[in-house]
Amino acid sequence: MKRTKCEECKGKIIRKKVPFKLYGIELGMFTAEICQKCNEEIYDEDTLDKINKAAKQKGLWGLESKTKVGEVGNSLDIRISKKIADFIGLKKGEDILVHPENKKRIVIDVV
Ligand SMILES: [Zn+2]
Repeated sequence: MKRTKCEECKGKIIRKKVPFKLYGIELGMFTAEICQKCNEEIYDEDTLDKINKAAKQKGLWGLESKTKVGEVGNSLDIRISKKIADFIGLKKGEDILVHPENKKRIVIDVV
């Protein structure tokens, strides 16, 4: 079913190709349904399939993973998966900067 109206704001939906980025890496141009009023971008199932395939080809698949918070002394310990470490190029002994972005998100900057 093709949407013609935005479910959020009832704005008019247009279809056009837009660049799609995952983790800061461009995966290519994909057709999105974009609301002209609130700019919400929606991708249909076929397009999401294509996006997933492109992500796999570029080795960006499966970077997100669940991890448990551990404890070391008085600090909490969060493990970073090998996949993410490889993607970032992070190695043991490197300095990183950890800070909260808000109450729900922690940002780790590689310095
Ligand atoms: Zn809208």
